[in-house]
Parts: sequence; C-alpha cells; structure tokens
Amino acid sequence: MAIETWGIGKTDYSDEVSVGQFLLGIGIKATDTTVSILYHASDRGAYSPLPFEHAPVMPGCVAHAVDPTTGLSYPLTWPAGYSLRLISYWWYYSEPVIGSWHVSFYGLTGTMDRFFFGEWGSKTKAQWYEHDVQSFDTRFFDPNGQYPFSLDIQVRNVGDRPLSCEVDVIGILRAVSTKPLPNVKTCKCKFCGFEKEVAWETQKMVCDRCGMTNLYYVMRKPVASEKGPLEAKD
Ligand SMILES: [Zn+2]
Repeated sequence: MAIETWGIGKTDYSDEVSVGQFLLGIGIKATDTTVSILYHASDRGAYSPLPFEHAPVMPGCVAHAVDPTTGLSYPLTWPAGYSLRLISYWWYYSEPVIGSWHVSFYGLTGTMDRFFFGEWGSKTKAQWYEHDVQSFDTRFFDPNGQYPFSLDIQVRNVGDRPLSCEVDVIGILRAVSTKPLPNVKTCKCKFCGFEKEVAWETQKMVCDRCGMTNLYYVMRKPVASEKGPLEAKD
C-alpha cells in the first residue's frame, strides 16, 4: 500500500501558529525561565527542609517571600538586561492580612528609585487565585531592560492570632539583552542563616555550620547570547 504524501516538502507550522494565538501574551522564548516566589506558614513549617516553609507569622509581623532556588528572602535584585513578568497568583491566609508588592528600578528616575505598586488586604480568612496573561511586567516601564530592578512581596499579619498562609506567585524572567547569569548561586541555610556559593544545579545543601539539610528548587537558568538580544545560545 502506498503511503500518502502530504505537503510540498516544507515544515507545517500551522499547529504552532494556532498555539500562539491561543496563548496570546504568554509566549515562552528560549531566553525565558520561570521564577517561583513563595511563602508558606504553618504549624509544621519550621521543620521542613524547604526554605519557604515557615512557622506561623506572629501578629504584627511581616513575612517576606522566599526564592525556593536559593532560600534567600525577597527583596531580590536582578541586573540590567532582564525583565520579569508576573503571571499567576495563589493566596490563602487564615487571619486578616495586608499583602504588598514593591518594585524598584535603580536609576530610572534619578531621584526616587523606589516604586510602590500594590497593597491589598482582607479582614477575614480567604483564598484567592488569579491567572493573568499579563498583570505586571517590568517592561511596562523599562522595555529594553536598561535598569537593574528589585522585587519584594510581603505579608503582614494584622490579626490577633498566628497566621498560617500560602503565597505562590509565578513569574517569567526573560533575558532581554545581556550576558548569561553566572553558573553559581548563593544558597542560604533556612535554619541558621549560613550562606554559601554553590553550583546553579544544587538541589540539596547540608549546612557547613549547623548540619541541617536544606532542599532547593532547581529551575532552568535564563539563556542569553553574547551575540545579541533574544538569541538562544543553544
Ligand atoms: Zn545552617
């Protein structure tokens, strides 16, 4: 039986075009990587080897989100040449909270580098999920990634009892026009605060100082070419 021949010898991209139309606004390029911004607080959180799992937040106290790949707390700063788009939010909180997010571009205005972008709160326990195609993007303000920027996400317990919560924010980090990030990262021990420079792929660190085991997320590093912007380095 003869095999039926399709096309005229060229690749058929029709499926990819359709996908691009369906996911308008969330195109993932070779220069992109996802970023998780997390804070979980619960009765057992303090014993977890995961750096974003913590004990409940006491009344009046503020908790800063954590980078699960390093254990470092926000605010964190990215160098010039990168952009960050926040696309997904998931919140649960057991007590009244005020959450806020803070973005700074260093050098953009020359006079005041701190931008305060949002604050929200709830008098009652609540959960909230939002999946946006484009809720916030540093390129709204700096389309070419000319300025370093920092981001912070905070949760303040404004209730009378210890706060349990889950805060998950997902972003897309894009190398707009820059050299690759270094192949190392600084990881922080959740239990004693000891910091150590390790390979980017490090998933487990037994602390040199306190001996406790920390587990970190391994997420793909943004790929950028030294030849020019938006070209993958294969
Ligand atoms: Zn330690």
